[in-house]
Amino acid sequence: MKVGIVGAGMVGSAAGYALALRGGASEVVLVDRNAALAVAQAEDIAHAVPFAHPCRIGAGDYAALEGADLVILAAGVAQKPGESRLSLLARNAEVFAQVIEGVQRAAPEAMLLVASNPVDVMTDVALRASGLPPSRVIGSGTILDTARFRSLLGGHLGVAPQSVHAYVLGEHGDSEVLAWASARAGSEPVARFAVQVGAAITQSVRERIDAGVRRAAYRIIEGKGATWYGIGAGLARIVQAVRDDQRAVLSVSTVTPEVEGVRDVALSLPRVVGRAGVLATLTPELAGDEAAALRQSAEMLKQTAEALG
Ligand code: ADP
Repeated sequence: MKVGIVGAGMVGSAAGYALALRGGASEVVLVDRNAALAVAQAEDIAHAVPFAHPCRIGAGDYAALEGADLVILAAGVAQKPGESRLSLLARNAEVFAQVIEGVQRAAPEAMLLVASNPVDVMTDVALRASGLPPSRVIGSGTILDTARFRSLLGGHLGVAPQSVHAYVLGEHGDSEVLAWASARAGSEPVARFAVQVGAAITQSVRERIDAGVRRAAYRIIEGKGATWYGIGAGLARIVQAVRDDQRAVLSVSTVTPEVEGVRDVALSLPRVVGRAGVLATLTPELAGDEAAALRQSAEMLKQTAEALG
């Protein structure tokens, strides 16, 4: 599968690197406004290929995306000092309009995988700008938050995160919702599993895990300015689900007809992802406070998308 990446900064290049290491694509093409950066990143990643899986890594302008099955959108501009979040968003929405026009000239049918933040609103922007169906415009959403949730829950329960089925829903950001009520370890509700292994999930354990998931990005940003490896691997995971038509259940963002009474809003829910994109969306069982939190998250995202116009 040929994968394009527009935006060869930290997130875009980490995605390209993760794809090369995982053998997630047969060809990766990097495109950036800064052409020299795209060339340099491609060359650097290409030097990892002899240690990984066969994959052609290149760089070019939009025309080089011709034939791409999927394009990762990782372009963005940085916040100016004193700039409001909405003004930054408006500038990033403009970048996306240009980028999507360029992508679609070369690869009109390519599926779009949105990585730029705020990812849910940018997914909404990408859907509107592209005219593609919602199933083919996917945001990385809470894929990473869900991975963090599983890892912390698995650590507490003493089981592999792969044996934990739990999702983070809603916004990829402060209003995200950890869906405890539907969380399972093996086939057991996590609370029952926890009692059986003598590791009860007390209120303080729950708060520690919640903060661990919700504050992870802040902690990383404090230490190194931004996050890129985790999301790069998450993007490669989504690409593989598409490439191999895995029909994997992943928490990703797409514009969804209705969520807790909020219409046409982009946010994360567990979704079946395969070759055609999002094949189905699941509605997990939620506790009353979780449903209310998901509604709040959806309302906030909808308002932000509407404020953008
Ligand atoms: P991140 O940490 O989100 O990856 P970076 O600033 O490292 O942020 O990367 C963003 C990249 O997006 C930069 O390399 C920048 O040149 C690129 N970019 C910004 N605007 C455009 C555009 N209109 N077209 C292509 N690339 C763009």
